[in-house]
Amino acid sequence: MSLGWLIVGGGIHGVHVAARLIGEGRVPPDQVQILDPEPALLARWRLRSQAIGMRHLRSPSVHHLGLDPLGLHAFAEDRWGGVRGLFAPPYDRPALSLFDTHCDAVMESYDLPGLHLRGKAASCAIMEDGVQVQLLDGPRVAADRVVLAVGPPEQLKLPSWASGFEDRVHHVFQPGFTDWPLKAQSVAVVGGGISAAQVALRLVDEGHEVHLISRHEFREHQFDSDPGWLGPKYMRGFARERGLDRRRQMITEARNRGSVPPDILRELMSSIRGGGIKLLRGEVSGLLSTGQMLDIELSSGDRRSVDTILLATGFGSERPGGALVDGLIRDEGLPCSACGFPIVDENLRWHPRVYVTGALAELVLGPTGRNIAGARRSAERILRSLGHRSQSEAVASGAPRATP
Ligand SMILES: Cc1cc2nc3c(=O)[nH]c(=O)nc-3n(C[C@H](O)[C@H](O)[C@H](O)COP(=O)(O)OP(=O)(O)OC[C@H]3O[C@@H](n4cnc5c(N)ncnc54)[C@H](O)[C@@H]3O)c2cc1C
Repeated sequence: MSLGWLIVGGGIHGVHVAARLIGEGRVPPDQVQILDPEPALLARWRLRSQAIGMRHLRSPSVHHLGLDPLGLHAFAEDRWGGVRGLFAPPYDRPALSLFDTHCDAVMESYDLPGLHLRGKAASCAIMEDGVQVQLLDGPRVAADRVVLAVGPPEQLKLPSWASGFEDRVHHVFQPGFTDWPLKAQSVAVVGGGISAAQVALRLVDEGHEVHLISRHEFREHQFDSDPGWLGPKYMRGFARERGLDRRRQMITEARNRGSVPPDILRELMSSIRGGGIKLLRGEVSGLLSTGQMLDIELSSGDRRSVDTILLATGFGSERPGGALVDGLIRDEGLPCSACGFPIVDENLRWHPRVYVTGALAELVLGPTGRNIAGARRSAERILRSLGHRSQSEAVASGAPRATP
């Protein structure tokens, strides 16, 4: 018997799609596998969220990996007998520890770790009776359908001045980054968004001398795009728009790039005012290594000598999926728009046997497509293609719910 569903990518999106297929789509667990090279599902999410010292999610409590949108609250009540201290105002944003514990519970309830196949998909060939996925340095896996849940672009934005200093200038999301400063030292954090702010706060808490270098004023926004993009307020107009170039433009304009939510900004400003974090405005214009120290020169003329530089400069904006997706376009002729991203149907089918989620599906999902909300909407659309109505849709229509 061939495999029904191969989900390529075991991050936030892949895990949620798997839970929905099994929990709502009634797909037998032995018909699902999740392919990911990491040692455990959600490994990348966990490394990144922990690296920046994130305490609460930016998104509200209904955005999680379980089926029932209200399930995270119910889970907290069941496990801890209450929700005190587990959600932060505004919008009931869950503590990272709660979110992660709930992810574990969701994964266990569908035995998802048991469905994890360790490996990286190198290429995909679409046959008449299924899809053959060739693993990098491994065998081929055949499945009736494939879901590409490969995440946002992996390429990190690395400033050109950092090249040649790879041993002492690290991006906080660099795979395998383990050089987090341990003994007290002077650290420059480069970036002006939520990650830079959280990294600077974590470092100052840990007793380091912290210089935060931002080339722009802080941009205060609760979310990374207006919440109107989560529902019909803006999505109706987006869906009505037939021009994909215009949709790309709407996505770009909607994103609050490099922004910081009010609570973190308050903490940051309080530390800056209190002399904890030292704020420098400007572009880094030069970097020199002088013995043990790194001498930074800014466009403003300011200079600083530090032991370490940490970059929180975000990710590139190219199409995710690398050679795997390139191959599907080149060899299978799957269509993409001028911006290079897949042209998919309303149920995220790039081909009757190939679905995409997250960033790859954002020309349908809109600016929140990469987020946890985007994972939920991806799964809903995939289930809809199978003729199922999801719990979110059922809740919206007042029908009774089931957990988890
Ligand atoms: C620090 C941080 C905080 C965030 N906070 C929030 C928040 O509060 N709320 C919110 O909604 N969103 C948040 N986001 C955004 C978003 O939810 C995450 O980026 C999310 O992890 C995206 O999920 P994903 O599954 O698409 O990608 P990932 O979590 O990156 O997972 C993709 C997986 O695909 C695997 N993969 C890639 N290519 C292949 C291949 N060829 N073969 C097999 N496997 C492959 C990778 O190994 C990886 O495990 C945050 C992001 C970051 C970085």
